[in-house]
Amino acid sequence: MTPIAQNLQEVRAAISAACQRAGRDPGRVRLVAVSKTVDLERIRAAIDAGQDLFGENYLQEARAKIAALGRQVNWHLVGHLQSNKARGAVELFDLIHAVDRLKLAQALSAAAAPQGKVQDVLIQVNQGGEATKSGVMPAAAPALLQEVARLPHLRVLGLMTMPPWFSDPEAARPYFLALRELRDRLRGLTGLPLTELSMGMSGDFAVAVEEGATLVRVGAAIFGQRR
Ligand SMILES: *Cc1c(COP(=O)(O)O)cnc(C)c1O
Repeated sequence: MTPIAQNLQEVRAAISAACQRAGRDPGRVRLVAVSKTVDLERIRAAIDAGQDLFGENYLQEARAKIAALGRQVNWHLVGHLQSNKARGAVELFDLIHAVDRLKLAQALSAAAAPQGKVQDVLIQVNQGGEATKSGVMPAAAPALLQEVARLPHLRVLGLMTMPPWFSDPEAARPYFLALRELRDRLRGLTGLPLTELSMGMSGDFAVAVEEGATLVRVGAAIFGQRR
């Protein structure tokens, strides 16, 4: 077994164990293998080990990888996106995780229209209120969601967050819980299903799954530390 196949097996086992602890169905948690800076050979090793969903951060890099590896697997954009790159993002990605402002949402909807696409997106929430992080502030999320939900070529599937960095994954738990509670409130407010919660990375994905994550974005724990 390759090291990547071994890592994937361990991450999947940890997701299953977290589901078990939380009484959740493991079929409701998708593992997004975050492959930014990871070369084609290692992505192929992950595909050979059964991984069928990858997350990228940069458009140029993703375009080259998708051209080489094709659509035998699904591709998500997990990182920050500039409005002027909306068209490329709509061409490339099945789900865009980090929509955090109306201008970007409008650009995505406008780009999706001529492509005959309804683009799936998540709203990124800055649950820690950190000045250095992107994401809409929780208090502003209801207004943003209501405006984004009106755009004809977007479909909002749920929420995404990146909590502050902690060495202890337990410290991230309140932020994951807060995102789930915000989702529940927004569901009541809008009537949208908002089934997806994108939260949890290499250091804290098990805690995120216990708190309801449906998409975990894991890079280093699969591919090794980025240099
Ligand atoms: C890089 C990245 C990840 C993966 O982080 P790891 O610590 O390598 O698991 C997850 N989400 C986003 C938005 C990222 O940019």
